[in-house]
Amino acid sequence: MRRTDKEVRDQGWIDAVLTKALFCHLAINGDEYPCLVPMNFVWHEGRLILHSAPDGEKIRSLRKNPRVTFAVETDPELVTHTTACGYGMRYRSVIGQGTARFVEEYEEKNNLLKVLSKKYTSCKVDDFQLDKLAHVILFIITPTSLTGKNSGYPLER
Ligand SMILES: Cc1cc2nc3c(=O)[nH]c(=O)nc-3n(C[C@H](O)[C@H](O)[C@H](O)COP(=O)(O)OP(=O)(O)OC[C@H]3O[C@@H](n4cnc5c(N)ncnc54)[C@H](O)[C@@H]3O)c2cc1C
Repeated sequence: MRRTDKEVRDQGWIDAVLTKALFCHLAINGDEYPCLVPMNFVWHEGRLILHSAPDGEKIRSLRKNPRVTFAVETDPELVTHTTACGYGMRYRSVIGQGTARFVEEYEEKNNLLKVLSKKYTSCKVDDFQLDKLAHVILFIITPTSLTGKNSGYPLER
């Protein structure tokens, strides 16, 4: 990272950003152009868990090439100044690369979908019925690299 003063290597800090972020930006190799989609996810045991409808460009592209790059950010805040050049952004962000794996087996899919649901709802989450799960694609991204960047915030978690 060019701005080494902003680089964060602390895994706990990176985990905290990935846990707090409400959604990620997922970049996949497309046919003509890169395929980029915002998606909900949960950071669980060092992996991203995501769900989707079975069809569409991103799933088609992922099946061709499961290697992805993802980015998340939390706490974006405009830093104002009296001159335009003095403006900036405060943020915490993480960028990672990894490989996606589609989860097909009922038990694993059910458990991970429950973990994902619990991040976003305050409802009691029961087991999903087999026929309902058939309409949902679930995939896991295992990162091969993760970098953290902190701009303008103190480093404590
Ligand atoms: C905050 C947020 C969270 C989301 N969470 C999820 C999630 O967890 N799971 C999920 O499957 N989807 C999620 N979505 C929707 C997701 O971004 C895609 O729109 C959706 O997954 C369909 O993608 P696709 O490649 O199948 O698109 P397709 O229906 O195949 O359409 C492809 C084309 O449509 C356009 N397009 C696709 N998505 C968008 C978009 N978001 N905005 C503008 N243009 C678009 C692009 O031009 C793209 O080339 C979320 C969106 C947002 C904004």
